[in-house]
Amino acid sequence: MKIVIAGGGTAGWLSALFLAKQNLHRDEPAYDVTVIESEDIPIIGAGEGSTGILQKILLSTLTELEGFNEQEFFQNCNTTFKLGIDCIDWNGVGDRFFESLQQSQTSDWPIDRDFAICTKYGVSGDSVLNKYLWEKNLSPFMKDANNEAAYQTGYAYHFDAHKVGEWFKKIALENGIKLQTGTITDTNLNPNNGELQKVILKDGTEIQSDFWIDCTGFNRVLSNAVGSEWVSYSEYLPVNSALVYTHQFEEDEIISPVTTAWAMPNGWMWQIPTQERYGCGYCYSDKFVSEEQALKELQEVTGRKITPLRNIKFDSGRLKEVWKKNVLSIGLSSSFLEPLEATSIHSSIIQLVQFTQHHLSPYKEDMMRESNIKANNEHFNMMLDEFRALIQIHYITKRNDTPFWKYVHNDLKRDPLVEKLLEILEYRVPNAYDFPHYNGSASWGVFCWILAGNGLISEEVIDKSLHTHAFYKESEKVYKHMVKQYGFDTRNYFPHTDFINWVKEFVKNGGKDFEIKK
Ligand SMILES: Cc1cc2nc3c(=O)[nH]c(=O)nc-3n(C[C@H](O)[C@H](O)[C@H](O)COP(=O)(O)OP(=O)(O)OC[C@H]3O[C@@H](n4cnc5c(N)ncnc54)[C@H](O)[C@@H]3O)c2cc1C
Repeated sequence: MKIVIAGGGTAGWLSALFLAKQNLHRDEPAYDVTVIESEDIPIIGAGEGSTGILQKILLSTLTELEGFNEQEFFQNCNTTFKLGIDCIDWNGVGDRFFESLQQSQTSDWPIDRDFAICTKYGVSGDSVLNKYLWEKNLSPFMKDANNEAAYQTGYAYHFDAHKVGEWFKKIALENGIKLQTGTITDTNLNPNNGELQKVILKDGTEIQSDFWIDCTGFNRVLSNAVGSEWVSYSEYLPVNSALVYTHQFEEDEIISPVTTAWAMPNGWMWQIPTQERYGCGYCYSDKFVSEEQALKELQEVTGRKITPLRNIKFDSGRLKEVWKKNVLSIGLSSSFLEPLEATSIHSSIIQLVQFTQHHLSPYKEDMMRESNIKANNEHFNMMLDEFRALIQIHYITKRNDTPFWKYVHNDLKRDPLVEKLLEILEYRVPNAYDFPHYNGSASWGVFCWILAGNGLISEEVIDKSLHTHAFYKESEKVYKHMVKQYGFDTRNYFPHTDFINWVKEFVKNGGKDFEIKK
């Protein structure tokens, strides 16, 4: 079957990698895959933070592709580690909490015991090693992999968005994917069934395909052609613009292993450390502040003279049918929520896992069955709707100090899952079973940090839940043990900056004798 991927950004080349894998272990390739890459339209170039799902594909799902592994990723993409998110000023200026990528060891219990006890006695993050590593700027890599006292942590990465796309492209081309350079200027539908038949490039070249993957970013060239509708989340999520910029490291910069998400008078800003520089931006609402005023606020808060790379406008939401006719949309063409939880690359990967493992088939008539398409789309909608709630939870705070925060406080439409959690929090600590279960879900392990960090779990409710599950009596002892043990365990891990300097040194020396110790 012929499959054409339109768009050569992160989503396009990632889709190519997943399809390349489908041709392994066959005498003949089942899929003839071409990526159309435009030389005229730049990629968005802003996605630089990830979730743990990227680690999963680097360490398992796609490792059969030659050259696709964690070591190469560190060497080629200015990669650093991400242990979580440092959330500043969300629940009022001066407030701060750590959102970990690692879940507590009891996160799937009917009450997350370690989390609840740490929230009672200290802060929720005390329940995971990641928080202690972050405080000391350590990487999640161990000095001695055989040390039995050491824990595995949950982590993700930061990277340079342009380099990651180039690296994906190189591996895809080495694994049988074809490249067609050109910009799509027109599309042609089959009048009998409404399927996309061919695209026409600027130079007149016509390209036909059996199946299409739309990775044309916010242009949504193919999904628009087949009439996919957009479902806006703007009533639920308050920002719609992003001023994007970079900031070079000082000499001897300590490279923090976390993303910073800093609440601002009209939204929030992010700072992502890669190997050489920070990727930064201010997500704001243009209903409350102009681009010029937003830049002024940024400069005041950071104390830096900032030259933005671009000001991006967006409407948070998703397609109603992410797979319509013979077009599947992946990446920004399918959906986008503000980048607070790095949900975009995460959902692209999950979509590709689901699609290639459950819905793709060399037999087009099987693949195009209504039930197959429906199952794919229901999974996608469930995921994006849960992420809408995950992001909205960040905004359920005490802040009420500017017109923007007053609007968020009083008028933002509540997501149904957020409503449900707030109702549960009136009498007990929620748990993993209060969330939808599906591949790629955020669930309790991600929501919990924000609920605690924003002060939405009262001490009374924690005490009651600990009593209900008979953990109250032992709670102080358990807390002291955790703090002591995790604090002690940090001695096993490399300083993050040393680790990154080690990678850079290795690349400079032509890549010899380098091994990342785990
Ligand atoms: C401000 C901001 C911050 C973000 N931060 C994060 C983050 O921290 N973490 C995260 O996971 N995600 C983040 N994202 C999302 C992330 O950038 C995307 O998921 C990722 O880059 C994939 O983008 P894409 O490939 O879908 O689109 P793009 O990068 O926009 O690529 C689109 C491609 O389509 C091509 N194209 C467009 N029109 C045509 C045409 N007519 N003919 C041919 N080709 C065409 C372009 O040339 C380009 O190659 C962020 C996004 C924004 C806007």
